Amino acid sequence: MSFKVAIIGRPNVGKSTLFNRLVGKKLALVDDTPGVTRDRRVHAAKLYDLHFDVIDTAGFEDAAAATLPGRMRQQTEIAIREADLIFFTVDAKSGLMPDDRTFAEVVRKSGKPVVLVANKAEARGAQGGLLEAWELGLGEPIPVSAEHGQGMPDLRDAVVEALGEERTFGEDDEDDSDEIAASEVLIGEDIADPDAEAAYDDTKPLRIAVVGRPNAGKSTLINALIGEERLLTGPEAGITRDSISVDWDWRGRRIKLFDTAGMRRKSKVQEKLEKLSVQDGLRAIRFAEIVIIVLDATIPFEKQDLQIADLIIREGRAPVIAFNKWDLIDNPQELLAELREKTERLLPQVRGIQAVTVSAETGRGLDKLMDSVIKTHKVWNSRVSTGKLNRWLEGILAHHPPPAVAGRRLKIKYVTQAKTRPPGFVVSCSRPDAMPQSYVRYLTNSLREAFDMPGVPIRMALRTSD
Ligand code: GDP
Ligand code: GDP
Repeated sequence: MSFKVAIIGRPNVGKSTLFNRLVGKKLALVDDTPGVTRDRRVHAAKLYDLHFDVIDTAGFEDAAAATLPGRMRQQTEIAIREADLIFFTVDAKSGLMPDDRTFAEVVRKSGKPVVLVANKAEARGAQGGLLEAWELGLGEPIPVSAEHGQGMPDLRDAVVEALGEERTFGEDDEDDSDEIAASEVLIGEDIADPDAEAAYDDTKPLRIAVVGRPNAGKSTLINALIGEERLLTGPEAGITRDSISVDWDWRGRRIKLFDTAGMRRKSKVQEKLEKLSVQDGLRAIRFAEIVIIVLDATIPFEKQDLQIADLIIREGRAPVIAFNKWDLIDNPQELLAELREKTERLLPQVRGIQAVTVSAETGRGLDKLMDSVIKTHKVWNSRVSTGKLNRWLEGILAHHPPPAVAGRRLKIKYVTQAKTRPPGFVVSCSRPDAMPQSYVRYLTNSLREAFDMPGVPIRMALRTSD
């Protein structure tokens, strides 16, 4: 699946130059191949890991520009209608002209997602034009130089922000297609909200699931958290009828908690109960963003606990550990040190995971637990710009480059962040198959540290650079 971009703007701002940069020489040649129709108006384009089509508006203008401004506008409108995304281009060197405002008005009225491209930004005096571009009311201008290829990482990020991840990358992401399916319900509303990834949004309810072995203290914890304000909102579509969601507010932050009644059926035989727990737990995990794993601190880290943690991580959700029944512990300092060490050793995929000691019964530690949940949720939503990533990559390549395999050094061309929730990165490299897992792990850990992303799963996909 791909999306279509129209480059719109008055004559001479650099539309053709930008078009050529995006489409590239290789693809322009394709048009001369016999059998390919000459008046094709759509060309395949690439911007790092983004693949899309650009509508060729140049032809529209040549025919009409000088003499028929009305027609030119009409043709622009056709291109806008066809496009999924507009690159509204202005000339930062010359500053705004009346025509820029006229075109901008047409673009704004279309209601299409827009990236405001401030071209010729490398030119002296372009700073003024860049500031002026804000006046168009089309959002933040992205300074680029189409001619010199500058500002392209930021342009790439602006596209993802304007369209949203799902529309940018489509459904054919082979790596984690089932993950997208699982999270579609969860983050579906983000698709229509282009700003969803721009900044951390704390207005939407944060979805939490509480999981853990029977008797770990889940029900007690949930009741302690929501207290009197318990509000049952009936069965959610898609969740088992036994599951209920609870809405409540924590310090003004809206929370939606998935409570799986199945986890608490104490009357069943133990074996059956555990089976049920896992199934219901899985459903809850899929609907949650953050999963609180409740461990009984007197008997922590049984096999089943680790299986649950592993499941959460594989589902791309962010875990937070609550060591419960802390009131029963005689040697808290000692045990805490031991548990911290164990946690890091047993769950290296989420290095820096938040682990909090609580007592569901007395209510101690619950504030800290919720702080950790929100902190982790922020990290899970975090986005690193392509520019920053590639400056980081430069350092990595200088000090710890990929190894040589069979006498040839593996090359990494660039890194981009393709996803949030959880953060997912694409590494464009020469031979993905030959890249050792150990080096991918090194990259992941280094990235986690450099951009301060503790405790959440980080996805790293290798792609062939072409
Ligand atoms: P269009 O009419 O919007 O398609 O604009 P063109 O792509 O034909 O560019 C108009 C003029 O601006 C040409 O002389 C280009 O060389 C120049 N130009 C395009 N991009 C840049 C840029 O990034 N920096 C500078 N300084 N000049 C540019
Ligand atoms: P669930 O099966 O995970 O939902 O566990 P429950 O919430 O039903 O708790 C199991 C048992 O542990 C109950 O007897 C609780 O009273 C007890 N319990 C839960 N939390 C605590 C705690 O923080 N301290 C102590 N001492 N007991 C707890």
